[in-house]
Amino acid sequence: MQYALAQQSYSPDLVDQQQTGIVLLDHAGTVLFANSAAETLLLGQGCQNHPLAAALEGAERLGLLHPHSSGRILAAVAGDRELQFRRRDEHTLRLTMGPGLGGTRLLEIADVSKVVETILSQSLDPLTGLANRVGLLAQLAMDYAPGQEPTGALLYIDIDRFKGVNDTLGHPVGDRLLKLVAERMANVISADDMLVRLGGDEFAILLKASAIVPAAEALARRLVDLLGRPYLVAGHMIHIGASVGIALASGDGQTPEDLIRSADLALFNAKSEGRGTFRFFNPSMADALQQRRALEIDMRRALALKEFSLVYQAQYAADRSRLVGFEALLRWNHETRGAVSPAEFIPLAEEIGLMTTLGEWVLRTACMEAAKWPKGMSVAVNISPVQFRSTALVAVVASALAASGLPPEQLELEITEGALLNNTAQVMDIFTQLKALGVRFAMDDFGTGYSSLSYLQKFPFDKIKIDQSFVRTMPDSHDSAAIVRAISALGTSLGMTTVAEGVETEDQLMRVARDGCMHVQGYLTGRPVTADLATQLALATIGEEND
Ligand code: C2E
Ligand code: MG
Ligand code: MG
Repeated sequence: MQYALAQQSYSPDLVDQQQTGIVLLDHAGTVLFANSAAETLLLGQGCQNHPLAAALEGAERLGLLHPHSSGRILAAVAGDRELQFRRRDEHTLRLTMGPGLGGTRLLEIADVSKVVETILSQSLDPLTGLANRVGLLAQLAMDYAPGQEPTGALLYIDIDRFKGVNDTLGHPVGDRLLKLVAERMANVISADDMLVRLGGDEFAILLKASAIVPAAEALARRLVDLLGRPYLVAGHMIHIGASVGIALASGDGQTPEDLIRSADLALFNAKSEGRGTFRFFNPSMADALQQRRALEIDMRRALALKEFSLVYQAQYAADRSRLVGFEALLRWNHETRGAVSPAEFIPLAEEIGLMTTLGEWVLRTACMEAAKWPKGMSVAVNISPVQFRSTALVAVVASALAASGLPPEQLELEITEGALLNNTAQVMDIFTQLKALGVRFAMDDFGTGYSSLSYLQKFPFDKIKIDQSFVRTMPDSHDSAAIVRAISALGTSLGMTTVAEGVETEDQLMRVARDGCMHVQGYLTGRPVTADLATQLALATIGEEND
């Protein structure tokens, strides 16, 4: 009876012409009727009076469908949801559910390959051949079509340190690297997933899996691991990494735009938590971003309001016999936030392009102050990698020296290995020009970064500062003690002074001195003090020496 009704309403001839598959199901999921288009497109012949599940499993077995496709289709049918998926032969089918007559349910099957192909071919990234942002938006628009319950997850992927490769090895190498990155990703996703190049070194994956949270997590882990393995391009061994942000279509985005924003925020979080990792979106990330924006506005104002100041931390000979100089450390005294840590605001200043201005202020102020100190008393100024990237630094240093009258050999620039990483030729040029001015160089936080001995060989540093993490763990860790000893020996043989940072106890002082460190800096011998106090201390020391 139901079958007769259906035949009246849906003329098989008509729909065949349109190549639309029509399937009528009863409440238990049995196929009451399937037109020939439905059989050709999805179900195979002879499915009538059999459960839909059986027909789909048959299609899977015959190789028409990808493994697990039948589960997704049945879930969509049961949930009255529209579903778009790809067959193994790359045809894209769209399934739409609706009520049939007399309590039956109607499943329409359309081959939308042409539509999808047209959209996607107009939205391909020429370098990798992957879909681009437009393609992603088109796919999301389909997933979020009215009446649809979007599923899956959007992963945003950013390549860490890619810019360095592009800058150092050139764009052709950068392009080849991006292709390899795309290939590695393509190898770990399934045919239902969509891989997208958003532009530059940013990619996205639209993941369609049934247990989406564990699947997204597993994929993110896999990507971080896989993309972090070395690449060989044009004879160069290249190390990069990946950060991943994940947003779930079911909860983290009411619209495609929301979903994208959530994935982007999660990525931003993964990157700010040290890169080489992944994060799922959570709503508090938006608050954190808000706070950051507020901090950013405040910091721009702080320069004008003169809320920044410098404090100075003394450096002594390891036997404490002599004060040798001071390190200038930046402080931000915010009118309501109080003292904001440089660890918090310096990365932000670097990111928003304020570091060059701020760094110039630090240089000029520290030189002015140190010019009041006795001869031979040095001032160390931290230089951010961002400052070190531009030749303008040379002019700024020269001008700070000239304006203050500070002898160049009393100025010491502290840089970390990070500053030397990219664009070796230009960095070398800047380093050499600064050396020619007569200023000295200290390598900061040695032992924490790449600790590449080749940097010490290539760049004639005057000083190595052994990172405080080694000093702090020395009493308990044989490794740390061995590292301190090794760096001290290295410094001595290369003619570089070694400084132990973060010496807090007599015990640590005794150990670093015994292990060959020449200078010390830490809370034990002196916390950072104001400029006035530093100057008093510097002058008093000379007084003592003259006594
Ligand atoms: P850094 O250059 O390694 O500076 C040493 C940091 O260790 C300072 O923290 C100092 O106060 C702290 N410290 C010194 N002795 C001890 C100790 O015995 N125990 C402990 N726990 N800490 C000690 P601060 O002033 O918070 O600076 C943190 C980082 O911020 C600096 O690390 C430096 O990388 C950056 N920084 C500070 N001022 C500037 C600046 O003017 N320009 C740039 N680019 N970076 C700066
Ligand atoms: Mg420093
Ligand atoms: Mg340091």
